[in-house]
Formats: sequence, C-alpha cells, structure tokens
Amino acid sequence: MMKAMEFDPVTLLSDLVSIPSVNPSGREENQPPFGEVRMTDYLEQFFQGLGLPTFRQRIAPGRENLIAQLPGSVPPERGGRLLLLDAHQDTVSGEGMTVDPWTPIVRDGKLFGRGSCDVKGGMAAMLAVLVRLTGERPRGMPTVVMACTADEEYRLSGAAALTALWATGSCPMFPRPPDAAVVAEPTGLDVITAHRGVLRWRCTTQGRAAHVSQPHSGGNAIYKMAGVLSAVQRYDREVIARLPAHPLCGPAALNVGTIHGGTCVNIVPERCEIEIEIRVPPGEDAEARRRELLDYLGREAALEPPARHDPPYMQAPPLSGEKNRDLAERLAGVVREATGRCRLLGAPYATDAAFYAQAGTPAVVFGPGRIEQAHTADEWISLDQFHQAIEILYQFIKTYCHD
Ligand SMILES: [Zn+2]
Repeated sequence: MMKAMEFDPVTLLSDLVSIPSVNPSGREENQPPFGEVRMTDYLEQFFQGLGLPTFRQRIAPGRENLIAQLPGSVPPERGGRLLLLDAHQDTVSGEGMTVDPWTPIVRDGKLFGRGSCDVKGGMAAMLAVLVRLTGERPRGMPTVVMACTADEEYRLSGAAALTALWATGSCPMFPRPPDAAVVAEPTGLDVITAHRGVLRWRCTTQGRAAHVSQPHSGGNAIYKMAGVLSAVQRYDREVIARLPAHPLCGPAALNVGTIHGGTCVNIVPERCEIEIEIRVPPGEDAEARRRELLDYLGREAALEPPARHDPPYMQAPPLSGEKNRDLAERLAGVVREATGRCRLLGAPYATDAAFYAQAGTPAVVFGPGRIEQAHTADEWISLDQFHQAIEILYQFIKTYCHD
C-alpha cells in the first residue's frame, strides 16, 4: 500500500502528463498518443495501491470510464453522504505545441505539458486528496466516488454513460445516485455554477459526379452546399443572434466548423459535408433550435434533392445554476478561507457536470489552472494553485457531512 509520507502530488501530475491520452475525436485510433487505455491502466494501479475497489465501465472499444470508491464513516445505504469527484482522462491533440507535450517540465513554478491544465492538474489534485483521506480517515467523512471519465473532449459520452450506470443500480460503486458532484476543469479556483450546452451534427449535400467538360450532366454538391451555408448564416443573424444573452453564460452561438467536398478539380463534386454546432445557455433547448434550423433550411435553401442531416453525434445539456447553489456556496466558502477570494461564475464551454445535474445530482465545476491555458501550444499549470486546490478539496470533503 502507498504511504502518504512517500507521496508527492507533483510527481503524480508529471506521471499523468507523460501518459498521452489524446481523444481520437471520431477517428478509429487507439495507438499512442490516442485513446485513454494506458491512462486507465495507470489509474487502476494507483487506486489499487491505495487499497480502493475499482470498476471499469466500457463506453467504446478500448475506451473505459474508471471508477473507484473510498468508503465513508457511514455507508450511503444507511444514510451516509455520497460525493462524486469527476475528472476526464482524455486531452486534446499535442500537435503544434511549442513544448514537448508528453515530457513534463517544471519551470518558474509552472508544470508544462499537454493536459497539465485540462485536466490532469485537477485530476491529480483529486487523487492527492484521496491519498490523504485514505491515510487519515477523518471522522464523519462522506463516501467518495472518483470517476475518471473517457471521451470528454469530443462527445462527453463518458459522463452520459456514468449516469446510466447509477440509474440501473448495477454498479457496486453507486449504491444510490450521488448527493453532489464536483467536476474538475481549470476554473482558476473559482466555482462554475452554470454553463452552455452543445449540439453537433453533420449535414451532407449530394450531387452526381461527371467530367468537368460536361458539368451539366452532373450536379455540383459544393454549389448546393453554398446555398445551405448562406441560409445557415441568415438563420444565425435573424434568430440566434437575437436571442437574449444569459447573465452568467452569455448568448447562444451557431457555427459551421468544417467543410469537406469533392475529390479532384476536374470532376464535378458528388458530395459535400459540413459540421454544424449550436451552443445554448441554460433555458434554451438546443434540439428545438436545431429542428427550427432544419425547417428553415428546407424553406430557404430550397435545394433539390434536399440536404441530408444526420442525427446529432454529440449532445451535451447546459448546466443550470438553479439546484447547485448550496453546494457552490459551501465550496466557495472553503476557497475563500484558503485564498481570500472566490467567485461563482458561468462558462461558455460544456462539461460532464451538466449530465450529473440532469440526472438529479447537484453539480459544480472547480479546479486549478485557468481555462485560457488549456489546449494551448505551451499548456501549463501553476503549481501554487495546484497545491491550493488539494488543500481546498481536502477541507471541503472533510467538512462535507457537517451541517
Ligand atoms: Zn477539460
């Protein structure tokens, strides 16, 4: 068993950063640096070293959520509290970085590397707290379930799968749904209580391939897509841009992020595909806006044959700040005691927290590092803030059962 005395949180963070776990983002890749499996194996060994039971939940081939449980003073079945800690295992790509993504270095009080900020820093802070709680077992501590989710950076399918798991009651880690959830993301030690939801799908126009010397015998799929694109822009101006902004999360947003079409300059393109994203603040229904946009495109783009819209491949609900107020205030109180300041904020991005909130568990987002440093070419985390996060989470969990 691991001794708390021998444990160094910065070494743990370095280990996590040095294990690439890039989200393949829709590609069929599982060789390094892609996929979470090597991270999952490392985390499983880590938890086993602490003597904690673990559970793997498969969400796709070679991709698993890893769940561990630290029993509290009173079992959840007998009225003890159950707290969920969440940190995702995956990162965005390390391509184009100006520092070595997988060889973490410490300089000027910062640790550099892909995932150091989003969100291996937050994950290592939570794991460090588990080491301390395992060693000290403070009286009255809650049962803590740590969920290391897969596929957060692309589809957020790990968190969705986790709520399905506790709904069935089939996982020994969750004798019942958690009473509260803290989701690690780089919030700069502020507490995020609300954020936007996201919906993404693909839209395809179909033409007919023909040699470019006889363009009229074909149907140009790229020209058809041009009609779709200008209608999307009109819908954005006329509808989305006029929706009221949310006080914490800002306005709704619509974006066409990719376009692919044609194979060769002398062939009339047969197919063109775009990816569309809608982001909505709490109170807006992204799927209702999507259906409205599809109707609009049918009317306004008047394309023959009509553009084909796939069902969304990614859906993440917004996080509403209505049910997590007590949890947020309690955590913010601990942060203020440690650092003298803490704000309750909204965020423009989506997180695992919204799935837990949707399943009925109050959830907030909290962690060390600033979102501006996530996904960057020289991603880093402040080690001061990393150590502060460990102390804050420890004090929060220790006092979570005291009213
Ligand atoms: Zn993240």
